[in-house]
Amino acid sequence: MSNIEQTLSIIKPDAVERNLQDEIKNEFIKNKFSIIKEKKIHISKNEAEQFYKVHQTKPFYNDLCNYLSSGPIIVMVLERENAVLENRKLMGATNPAEANEGTLRKKYGISIDKNSVHGSDSVENAKLEINFFFKD
Ligand code: UDP
Ligand code: MG
Repeated sequence: MSNIEQTLSIIKPDAVERNLQDEIKNEFIKNKFSIIKEKKIHISKNEAEQFYKVHQTKPFYNDLCNYLSSGPIIVMVLERENAVLENRKLMGATNPAEANEGTLRKKYGISIDKNSVHGSDSVENAKLEINFFFKD
């Protein structure tokens, strides 16, 4: 039985700064994701605060929002079978030091804050996050 889903992916400022976007997009394509929508944007601190609102009580919230708004990012809608879970698997653990071999965060991540990619953590949040960046 097929379960085609969409998920939101972000290539974060540390990866865009190192010009890794084409390499990372190829990883998605190799792993059977279709890139349905894509745009390069530079969001404001206020927009980052809205996007990461779920983390507003965390000690890292302010640094995280400063970081996501520090430079251009690539936001994408990815589609495939079980896209949410498959993208989380491809990304690897939040902390690149703990990420499995072959995952994006292991390959490209610098640190727990500069971990190169974001991916929605549930189908429900994927819908909210896709709508946040692609309202039209
Ligand atoms: N983060 C951080 N310090 C922490 C935990 C998280 O800087 O101790 C950052 C990290 O960049 C992470 C983002 O906050 O990607 C969102 O955290 P979450 O727990 O949702 O991790 P993710 O879903 O991105 O794996
Ligand atoms: Mg998360």
